[in-house]
Amino acid sequence: MKKITIAANWKMYLDEVSSIDFIEKLNAEKELFSNKDIIIFPSHTCIRSVKDRLNIDLKIGMQDCDIHNKGAYTGSTSISSIDIHSCIVGHSERRVIYKENNEIIAEKLGAVLSSKANPILCIGETLEEKNDNITESIIESQLSILPKDLNDRNLTIAYEPVWAIGSGDVPSNEYIHQMLSYVKNRLKSLYSDTDLDNIKLFYGGSVDANNLNDLIGIELIDGFLIGSASANFEKFKDIVKQLKL
Ligand code: PEP
Repeated sequence: MKKITIAANWKMYLDEVSSIDFIEKLNAEKELFSNKDIIIFPSHTCIRSVKDRLNIDLKIGMQDCDIHNKGAYTGSTSISSIDIHSCIVGHSERRVIYKENNEIIAEKLGAVLSSKANPILCIGETLEEKNDNITESIIESQLSILPKDLNDRNLTIAYEPVWAIGSGDVPSNEYIHQMLSYVKNRLKSLYSDTDLDNIKLFYGGSVDANNLNDLIGIELIDGFLIGSASANFEKFKDIVKQLKL
């Protein structure tokens, strides 16, 4: 049985006070949360407080980063501004709301790969693209920004159909399996077996404690990127309770 990763994308749901409150609740239930593969992604401004208070071996990541490492970029955050485990790039909210295209996302991916952090590249089709039957070509273009060589770096691809995010509309296991198989085959054509061993596949989109158990059954899944249900302590606890390892 493989160890499933839970990546908790808190988005902009929790302010500093609520983030600290969440971490104190986690600390109080050490037994449940210890030894699990959990990465928490607080708002940038809350990362320091979360890191300082966390008493359990969970990992902390950044939800996004700038394409630059340092300099005159008012209001932006560099990947090297704080020591973190992972960084999300290409989340659909960045693609859709902030108009980030594959070129920008490629630069962000490069910035993360030039740091010590592990990138989580989000990909997935909109409802319109799904209805137009162009999902595979969209995924192919989103994957086209991957570097030729991973140089022993870890990489996670999170397949998140945009229409499933925050909608409660979760695709069937067959659909997710078909998409992850497509992704896996693309990756096989790009990378050596050694590189492939360092790549994980996640699913994201309306995952909660009610559907997690079913979704874990999908053969290619290594983990889940979870938004709203991960920012509510009780819901998050119910999710983690279902992990066998
Ligand atoms: C996400 O934004 O990555 C996500 C999966 O959100 P939600 O779980 O709220 O659908």
